[in-house]
Amino acid sequence: MSAALASGAHVIPCYIDARDEEAPWSPGAASRWWLHGALESLDAELHARGSRLVIRRGPTVTALKQLIEETGASAVYWNRLYDPSCMARDQNVKVELKARGIEALSFNAAMLLEPWQLATQAGTPFRVFTPFWRTLSARLDQVPPCAATPGTLHPVPATISSLRLADLGLLPQIPWTRGMSAAWDTSEHGAQKALARLKDEVVADYAAQRDLPGRQGTSRLSPNLHFGQLGPRQILHSLRGPQRKDQRICAGAADTFLRQVGWRDFAHYLLFHFPETPEQPFQPLFKGLPVRQDAVALERWQRGRTGIPLVDAGMRELWETGWMHNRVRMVVASFLTKNLGIHWSQGARWFWETLVDADLANNTMGWQWTAGCGADAAPYYRIFNPVAQAERFDPEGKYIRRWVAELARLPDRWIAQPWKAPPEVLRTAGVDLGKSYPRPVVDLAVSREQALAAYQTLRASRARP
Ligand code: FAD
Repeated sequence: MSAALASGAHVIPCYIDARDEEAPWSPGAASRWWLHGALESLDAELHARGSRLVIRRGPTVTALKQLIEETGASAVYWNRLYDPSCMARDQNVKVELKARGIEALSFNAAMLLEPWQLATQAGTPFRVFTPFWRTLSARLDQVPPCAATPGTLHPVPATISSLRLADLGLLPQIPWTRGMSAAWDTSEHGAQKALARLKDEVVADYAAQRDLPGRQGTSRLSPNLHFGQLGPRQILHSLRGPQRKDQRICAGAADTFLRQVGWRDFAHYLLFHFPETPEQPFQPLFKGLPVRQDAVALERWQRGRTGIPLVDAGMRELWETGWMHNRVRMVVASFLTKNLGIHWSQGARWFWETLVDADLANNTMGWQWTAGCGADAAPYYRIFNPVAQAERFDPEGKYIRRWVAELARLPDRWIAQPWKAPPEVLRTAGVDLGKSYPRPVVDLAVSREQALAAYQTLRASRARP
């Protein structure tokens, strides 16, 4: 938008709904809900500046040609995306527009640096995060500042028609989004409030708090970042720029947080250089790993009824709010892929439908990393033990008690593993295993050994001449 305004032309802000062009990864249900709120708020912001959002339906090229005919536009501006289907679409749009003498200009608003700006000394793409981040973080001073928010805009002529937002059918027919509405502000203003909270409350203690799911110790900016309501460059300059005295943001604290934002850049970098990874393991060896088809276990995982409290708490938080804490995402993903032996892509699909921050790059990297087949120096045999994880990161069971209310009265000692609690403790806490709360769907120790054995067999089979 700022580049278009800088050209001096009259700008017509436009959203083209062409979700089917993003198949097989068109936005899931929770994302569509967020998108509705984000577009509504964008339109309101534009109105406040004298303009409005023109909404059209795809195919993108057809919609653009139509709009160009109606308006006499000589250039089209947009921000780049890195999902394979979006890149293919953008490429096609560029070819089609240029063939008609229309300028087609795309910009970076989503990344600290572009994926083609970073490579190993050998000129190949990075495959491991640490050297990637070392290189990127040494170049952060090259990241240009963000343009100021525009003031008054030219009005869009009344002759230019627009669909109503409701016509896009982004909201579900059955009203299941109450929990998400209570948890989130999907507006531009909400994104700015979250950024202010990051600076006022989160960054200073981020290193100590970020792994504790029972606290609000992370920024919760992931949906805003995904939908472009806020960019990583804004975060960078906001954390490194002048601060109020009471904000306590030392360079070390800011860098700890920025490193995490660096993971997001790394995920997009990987997706750009390895576009097959939403479907294929990053390490080809893992194509041969046996997986189980178990619809019952999968559904118990999805519904938060596995009988493993930390896993169930995470899956219920996801269902209710459309978000899950990062530590718990790793635990539930490890449980699905290693303990239940179900293919990571089934978990990735469920996250895709239910996360408000569902993001093809981050989701693919997160699932492959946890399943052990991704871009990671650590091997497959890192298997998260959900009981040990709960005892370490949720020692008082605050997170589990919030989401698995039927266990709330259990003492701290048993909250992460009720199946080990003495019968009288269960009785006093009102827990009837197998009735009020399920018994574990799988034995954690046995399934861990089975996962390791499957991996050893796979390695051995590949080592044979
Ligand atoms: P903060 O801790 O405040 O971090 C700030 C920002 O840095 C985040 O908003 C995010 O953009 C980025 N970030 C932080 N950690 C990671 C990470 N491990 N990988 C990539 N970026 C990161 N994140 C998504 O945005 N969308 C997804 O679909 C997604 N799927 C995931 C699936 C699995 C199995 C796992 C293990 C992780 C996934 N993540 C995903 C990454 C991470 O869990 C979330 O980005 C984070 O929990 C968002 O919360 P936050 O904004 O409070 O993060």
